[in-house]
Amino acid sequence: MPTSTPAQAALLPVEGAGLQVPLAGGGQVEYANLDYAASAPCLEAVADHVRRVLPYSASVHRGAGFASAVCTSLYEGARHDVARFLGARAEDAVLFTRNTTDAVNLLAHAVASTGTGGAGGAAAQVVLFDLEHHANLLPWRRVGARCVTVRATLGESLEALDAELRAAPVRLLAVTGASNVTGEAPPLRRLARLAHDVGARLFVDAAQLAPHRRIDMAALGIDYLAFSGHKLYAPFGAGVLVGRADWLDTAPPYLAGGGAVREVGAASVDWATGPARHEAGTPNLAGATAIAAACRTLAEITPEVWRDHESALRDRLLRGLAALDQGAPGRVVVHRIWPENSQPEDGASDGGRAQGVGVVAFSLPGHDPGLVSAYLSAEHGIGVRAGRFCAHPLLARLGAPGGALRASIGVGTTSAHVDRLLVALEDYLRTGP
Ligand code: PLP
Repeated sequence: MPTSTPAQAALLPVEGAGLQVPLAGGGQVEYANLDYAASAPCLEAVADHVRRVLPYSASVHRGAGFASAVCTSLYEGARHDVARFLGARAEDAVLFTRNTTDAVNLLAHAVASTGTGGAGGAAAQVVLFDLEHHANLLPWRRVGARCVTVRATLGESLEALDAELRAAPVRLLAVTGASNVTGEAPPLRRLARLAHDVGARLFVDAAQLAPHRRIDMAALGIDYLAFSGHKLYAPFGAGVLVGRADWLDTAPPYLAGGGAVREVGAASVDWATGPARHEAGTPNLAGATAIAAACRTLAEITPEVWRDHESALRDRLLRGLAALDQGAPGRVVVHRIWPENSQPEDGASDGGRAQGVGVVAFSLPGHDPGLVSAYLSAEHGIGVRAGRFCAHPLLARLGAPGGALRASIGVGTTSAHVDRLLVALEDYLRTGP
């Protein structure tokens, strides 16, 4: 990505100067990070912000001193920045969590305990596809969600989903904003419509969508959304859950403890409403304000610039993988849930064609993905992910039950990084392990 303006310069990852990594054969090479989908390096602008906040280090909501007032104001201000970045409605709640997993568990707890199924009940009335990351699968399974098997095309999958939504009462449809395996981005506007038509709400796991596309919750009809700071160019340890306050305000607190109450008697508790209800304990100020800083920084990029940077690199990678396969078909398999031409048009608020975000999963049949990724790292200084990506049912469906490789793109990725991966893969296929 060009770095000619201050806004673009702020987008440099901390490793932007070029992290040098050792090679097995001796010497060093600039690290080619193609693993942004796991965790993205912290942006310079975010790291600067955290360095400015840390000296205050005083208790949020709990102190009368100046530093404490500053911290409280920074923490509450962070909610506004997150809400603005996501196009949340004025009345939406912004809760800080540990990560996406924590946010989904919180919402599952709230949905199960406010619905007719009761806490932990067998009928929380949640519907989802079987393509989800475990973080957006297991918390729902635990409260009795109904899982729809994806079909051969997106259209057939949406029909099956619609039928399931109409088959029995449903309160929530939980979907991924972009698959952490294939990068495919389901049509959120249409999914919201399907959910709302039967009186249900839509939750979007945006762990992979938020780092790749601008999202407008209100425009798309998203009722709840979660993402993790560490995938959005902020440090580890904080995430968000954003959405309609009513279920959150009536659910029992997710955590019980200080800060979540208005009054505690000898045997009684008057729980707070608002975000505090679920955020007991001293909050993660550095994490929350880092996320807010990341949101402000990313908001400076024109959505089209962001998308085009990524789409160009993704297309380059896909073309390169196809070329590798051309000489000897079957050497490289790119994994997709649905055929390319069944992709939707409205996966993100920028109105662009949602061919998918910069996440590509592929296999070299006959080669162990773990060994390939170890080779790429040791011999070429390239970081990709190998394994089942916390999406075991989806990997089995894609015909890769033993795992695959995943290359993912972020703001620091260049065409040189993509080309290095392609050359290294060719090298591997030519010379063998
Ligand atoms: N959802 C998706 C789509 C993800 O890719 C991930 C992480 O890879 C998660 C949820 C879980 O995120 P975290 O581990 O930060 O809770």
